[in-house]
Amino acid sequence: MKERRTPKHVGSYNKNLVLEVLMKQGPKSRAELSRITKLTKTAITEIIEELLSKNFIVELGRVNTRRGRRPIKLAINPDLLVLALDLSGIYIKGAIVNPMGNILKIYSIKMKNIEDLLKLIQELYEPFKDKIIAISASIPGLLELSSGRVILSTSLNWKDVNLREIINKIFPLPFYMQKDTNAGILAENWYGEGRNYRNFFYLLLSKGIGLGIYLNDRVLDGYDGIIGEIGHTIIEIDGKDCWCGKKGCLETVASIPIIIENYDKSSDINEILENAIRGEKIESLDKALKYLGISLANVIQIFPPQAVCVSGNLSLEGLKYITEKIKEYILSKIFPQLRTKIVFYPSNLGENSLILGATVLGFINYFNK
Ligand SMILES: [Zn+2]
Repeated sequence: MKERRTPKHVGSYNKNLVLEVLMKQGPKSRAELSRITKLTKTAITEIIEELLSKNFIVELGRVNTRRGRRPIKLAINPDLLVLALDLSGIYIKGAIVNPMGNILKIYSIKMKNIEDLLKLIQELYEPFKDKIIAISASIPGLLELSSGRVILSTSLNWKDVNLREIINKIFPLPFYMQKDTNAGILAENWYGEGRNYRNFFYLLLSKGIGLGIYLNDRVLDGYDGIIGEIGHTIIEIDGKDCWCGKKGCLETVASIPIIIENYDKSSDINEILENAIRGEKIESLDKALKYLGISLANVIQIFPPQAVCVSGNLSLEGLKYITEKIKEYILSKIFPQLRTKIVFYPSNLGENSLILGATVLGFINYFNK
């Protein structure tokens, strides 16, 4: 059944639209907001009043120019800060980020246990505590978003950890979390090239292989946090054992640790990619990229996106190489009429993209409270 838009729905939808424009496009006047959002001036005035009263936005000073008085611009309140966490693996990151995506402080530590994480949060929290509106985290693994539990994360070596409970025992702030792939989509959608697309895939290559799906302007959450597990689709019937309990998953052939394991000259993935770019034939890498391409082609054939973004904590050169190779394999495996339509690009948000994704998550949830 189609969801009916009640006046309340429309109200919060429009409010979010205004906030989204201000976050993505920077300060705007009331007239500009009306033009961009296609909302009436009266509607914009009402929304702005509400957002100002909640301190979500501020009015920037009126600037007098030679051409006369310029209208007042509105901006997201720059004093609102998110404490964002990227828990991708052994080296985890925490940062304080403002609504424009500027990182005011960032730390990276090697996490041995959860106390290390709490210490990292404490160090970031103390100097900014009056301005932090939320703590939010990008986490690799299976999550239960409603309870704040990490059900299973092999890269963190966690099983059934209620992170929300642990964090809230010490820090009295709303805590939000998302799968790393979905945090990556948010970062791409708000701060990266992904803002140009209403439908795109976000392939994240880290210890595992994940696929974030952005469909008709929405991040697909799946069933309570389980979504986009392309790494655990079967690519080799009766193949090698996977940590998930199945056999022949894509991750048993194409994950970065497997590529490294099957190459004896280096254990640095960026170095391996450099060698491949220089022309060295690396069988394990070729096989990994071929299987990645085929797996993605299967998903693309089911619901074709406008774009596929390839991301991971790799050099931009390495990401470009992977993107091109995967694209070659994909194009030979999808309908001809789709081949020229889909854009393939490496994410250029760099190593802090998941921090930015966690930041967006924090702001969106705070504004929707
Ligand atoms: Zn598996």
